[in-house]
Amino acid sequence: MPFFARFERENWKTMSNTEGLEAAADAIGKAGDLALACHVGPDGDALGSMLGLGIAAQNAGKTVRASFGSPFVMPPNLGFLPSDLLVPPGDFPAAPDLMVVLDAGSPDRLGELAANASKAATVVVLDHHITNEGFGTISVVDATAAATGELVFDLLGLLDWPITPDVANCLHTALVTDTGRFLYSNTTQRTLQIAAVLVGAGASPTQIGSHVYERSPFGYLKVAAAALSRAELDVDARFVSTIVTQADLTAAGIDWGDIDNLIDTLRLAEEADVATLAKVQADGRVRVSMRSRGDTDVGSLAAAMGGGGHRLASGFTAEGDAAVVIRQIREAIEEYR
Ligand code: AMP
Ligand code: MN
Ligand code: MN
Repeated sequence: MPFFARFERENWKTMSNTEGLEAAADAIGKAGDLALACHVGPDGDALGSMLGLGIAAQNAGKTVRASFGSPFVMPPNLGFLPSDLLVPPGDFPAAPDLMVVLDAGSPDRLGELAANASKAATVVVLDHHITNEGFGTISVVDATAAATGELVFDLLGLLDWPITPDVANCLHTALVTDTGRFLYSNTTQRTLQIAAVLVGAGASPTQIGSHVYERSPFGYLKVAAAALSRAELDVDARFVSTIVTQADLTAAGIDWGDIDNLIDTLRLAEEADVATLAKVQADGRVRVSMRSRGDTDVGSLAAAMGGGGHRLASGFTAEGDAAVVIRQIREAIEEYR
């Protein structure tokens, strides 16, 4: 089946996630070389699940290369993750025998590595986005998993590959970040059971917390102050929003990766169910992050705008004026409540 062809819904239903995971373990266990990729602008789950799998595979004797699409910049707050396996997208195998795609709901989330995936002999997809329509040769999509890291944990169990302290720290980072430190509604008993095993295997919650949540460059405070002072609240629509531009970042000497947690402050506004942060890139494209307290399905809203994500956390990229994009979202949210 061609890589970009969506699974027939009928076929899709014939492979359970358990069968999918077994097929994935079989393919990965037999491979000599592994090419791993996660979504562009990687977060803790994308990098943590990818590097956790990669290090475990390397320990099992595989040759591993891991990457993500441009811009190939390690997010500063994830710089503590062991990144020896990372190669720039230009050094990624053009036509891998086996490519594993992690935490990406569609091929376009791979940036330029989508081309490598389209030439790979086998593509294994491990993901938990509800908006994932099914792509790849072996697709394991479990929207009940809090993080792709949970799927990697199960995969390592099937492969009988040891969870070393490095692997544990990567996977724990995946769980911590995608669950908002185990507080979001995606956190399950199983998430916490896996976390307990990972901490027992050497993951360091203190190290992860101190890097991911407890530090930012001073310039972040300036950008956050500017963005929050411009925030607008529509009480009737229960909608709060603001815009950050490349010029804001340049003035403060920081990068996009430094403001990943800004949406968490914006969404504190208790009058709002939906918080929207519009990030205007240097090229003028607008990257939008959305969060809901629970009454709005922002995953479906983002999917309708050409993006994706989860019911309560999602995003998309748009062309055009940020204020117009924000108005379109505000006018659409009623449909998703
Ligand atoms: P973020 O706001 O970047 O933290 O993203 C929140 C959620 O939405 C994550 O699960 C992302 O994977 C997903 N997401 C963000 N941007 C996009 C996009 N352009 N297309 C699809 N999913 C996205
Ligand atoms: Mn992610
Ligand atoms: Mn994720």
